Amino acid sequence: MKVRAFTAITACKFTRWFLRVIGRGATQMPGRVATKIYPDILGYLAKDVRTVVVTGTNGKTTTARMISKTLSDCGVSFLANKSGANLLNGITAEFIANCTPTGKPKKEAALIESDEAAFKKVGKYVDPELVLVTNVFRDQLDRYGEVTHTLNNIKIGIENSPHATVCLNADCSLTASLAEEVDNKIIFYGVNEPIYKKRVKEESDAPYCIHCKYEYEYEYITYGHLGKYHCPHCGYSRPDPEVAASKVIVSDAEHSEIEIDAAGEKFKALINLPGGYNIYNGVSAVTVAYALGLDLKKAVSALSSFECGFGRMEKFMIGKAETRMILIKNPAGCNQVLNFLSNVNEKSIFAVCLNDNYADGRDISWIWDVDFEVLAEMADKLEYICVSGIRAYEIGMRFKYAGIDPDKIKVFKDYDKLLDAISEQDMPVYIMPTYTAMMDLRALVSKRFGYKNFWE
Ligand SMILES: [Zn+2]
Repeated sequence: MKVRAFTAITACKFTRWFLRVIGRGATQMPGRVATKIYPDILGYLAKDVRTVVVTGTNGKTTTARMISKTLSDCGVSFLANKSGANLLNGITAEFIANCTPTGKPKKEAALIESDEAAFKKVGKYVDPELVLVTNVFRDQLDRYGEVTHTLNNIKIGIENSPHATVCLNADCSLTASLAEEVDNKIIFYGVNEPIYKKRVKEESDAPYCIHCKYEYEYEYITYGHLGKYHCPHCGYSRPDPEVAASKVIVSDAEHSEIEIDAAGEKFKALINLPGGYNIYNGVSAVTVAYALGLDLKKAVSALSSFECGFGRMEKFMIGKAETRMILIKNPAGCNQVLNFLSNVNEKSIFAVCLNDNYADGRDISWIWDVDFEVLAEMADKLEYICVSGIRAYEIGMRFKYAGIDPDKIKVFKDYDKLLDAISEQDMPVYIMPTYTAMMDLRALVSKRFGYKNFWE
């Protein structure tokens, strides 16, 4: 064994231990220490581990969690970067935490959630057996703001993963186009019928054909630019998915019921998480199980006992109020939350916490691309809406422009006061924070209402 690898592993394990002792949940530092000592430590540790990488713009965390549940239920031992540390340092630290002091892996598999930019690099160090791409949407965190840039990052990541089977969302015209760009074995998945009765008005992130720039025609849209598209000019069209939600039976405030068709074999699936976009997450998790040759019955039933991830439809009792926390980070994701909320039938309270720190994206102009007007249309179901976070006033202003009665908009500059107000409600509350707002709020909820922190 290389001395540098041994030193890197020891230093990383020590740093991790030390940070825990002093009560810090830092996830970047230990990995950074290790890669400083031995830059190729990840490649060294990952070479004998079957690796699954989940990438794409939206839905990575939830999908990775669903896959985790599937792997556990199928008896596969694995490590995962579940703390949301989806950059190289976090992944490295996770591999080190799951190896012996001499660098021997303790787990047979690894499940890596990676953003598109990091995936480009991840593929250089690990040799994934499987890559799952959820979708490609415009994200305000993308410095170039171009979906083609994101798509190109994923393409490079796949090129760095020549042995991987690649699972692609057939319903995303951008994602599906990757099949023509790479030589890997491809498995398409999708949703074969519309999900929502009522949808928000969304700007499509990909209205024009990726090949010839003609406008796509759709047989149906599930959400955003996802659906059954075809280009009337060059003929590029949605490929037939091998694994699909063949029927959407129910999609309500608590869960979805679907029929999954995996290469002709049919299963009834219950997805224990509301929101139509979670149907995609569920189908993609089953696709991974299918591609890995796992027991599909177990994979499907894992979806029904799956528990919500950190800040992703996560449920709490805050005082009397049954509360769900739903991370928002870009127009497409936020519109999907609104699609979900506009199909909820009970009278509810909403809260949006908008920050503009680096991890949220400094530019908050994306809030003008979200169809918040739909909230004004559901005035009879909206008790009131709270705004908070660094840019509370801007989001409040956005709601005013959306046509929401100003008397129904309440500003809370302080999260403690926001939680106090929520705790007195006896109706459902939906909190939608951006990333750093979620981290702060989630920590406060842990402290005040006794929920676990993510690293515990
Ligand atoms: Zn075309």
